[in-house]
Amino acid sequence: MSRIYNFSAGPAMLPEAVLRQAAEEMLDWQGSGMSVMEMSHRGKEFVSIAAEAEQTLRDLMGVPDNYKVLFLQGGASGQFSAIPMNLLRGRKRADYINTGSWSKKAIKEAGKYCDVNVAAASPEGVLTIPTRAEWQLSDDAAYMHYTPNETISGVEFHWVPEVDAPLVADMSSTILSRPVDVSKFGLIYAGAQKNIGPAGITLVIVRDDLIGETLPGTPAIWDYQAQADADSMSNTPPTYAWYIAGLVFKWIRDQGGLQAMAELNQRKAGKLYDAIDGSDFYSNPVDPDCRSWMNVPFVLADEALNDTFLAEAKKVGLTTLKGHRSVGGMRASIYNAMPEAGVDRLVEFMREFERRHG
Ligand SMILES: *Cc1c(COP(=O)(O)O)cnc(C)c1O
Repeated sequence: MSRIYNFSAGPAMLPEAVLRQAAEEMLDWQGSGMSVMEMSHRGKEFVSIAAEAEQTLRDLMGVPDNYKVLFLQGGASGQFSAIPMNLLRGRKRADYINTGSWSKKAIKEAGKYCDVNVAAASPEGVLTIPTRAEWQLSDDAAYMHYTPNETISGVEFHWVPEVDAPLVADMSSTILSRPVDVSKFGLIYAGAQKNIGPAGITLVIVRDDLIGETLPGTPAIWDYQAQADADSMSNTPPTYAWYIAGLVFKWIRDQGGLQAMAELNQRKAGKLYDAIDGSDFYSNPVDPDCRSWMNVPFVLADEALNDTFLAEAKKVGLTTLKGHRSVGGMRASIYNAMPEAGVDRLVEFMREFERRHG
């Protein structure tokens, strides 16, 4: 067996130790005589798996007691509508910051439910974040939404905005990559398939005073209060994905927690950006102040070499480096589970490719 270094933006690599444990427990989870996939979500075995996953996450992130942790379905995209349905609470307006593709999708969806004020936007084609001083916030916004890491363009906030309205963050591609002060947020959400676990489960961390008043017509499964009251089991949850997420949380804890992850991620990203900046052959188009630790796009000086680059990389076990179709070039997604050795191998390959083709 030989595992590749998979630079996919998501679903992405999972820690090998987690996959091994899942394999060991596949047919018989801890003497229960059944796979986690075969368990009733209401049985004591799965209820303990679910509760332990939540507690491990709470410990890792330091989630305060007045926040609910929900394990839902529908992806981060489902939250684009669930958020206005739950957080408008009788208000008519919400503020959004537009820093790229995922911001735009969140804005478009929210527009079905309320008046969206785009308080600031990155200039078209410029990969940067408008400074806080430029933001035109409304004084009656129900909440302020932003995308801390734009997965496609590799634009990341390295600061947490200070605003009066409850702060809502789509952390799909950056959650658990570093410590965050959860108390600064009204709501944090993330699809699992980048830094949490398998696709199919969506994490929502929400301050409890913000929930309980939904827009008329809100489906029951999108009602955060109802889901909180039912321990995220208003209907059958994605049990296996929840279990794997729990193993990933423990793996992060065993690596030393979020501070250790942050140091590792910063080092991994630094090696890749240094390699790109130190060459005339590769370049990264993002404002250096907002370069992502998780998704590193880069282009080759000669675009005609793109296919050769991808084919040769694949031959040495470096895969899924093709940039998003809207951006072109390359993108290396280097989430928590990408070993530092994978980044080293990529940097080595890039240097060697440049020597032969540059
Ligand atoms: C991947 C991603 C999404 C979409 O997630 P789904 O779970 O596929 O809906 C939304 N926002 C960001 C920032 C992402 O990276």
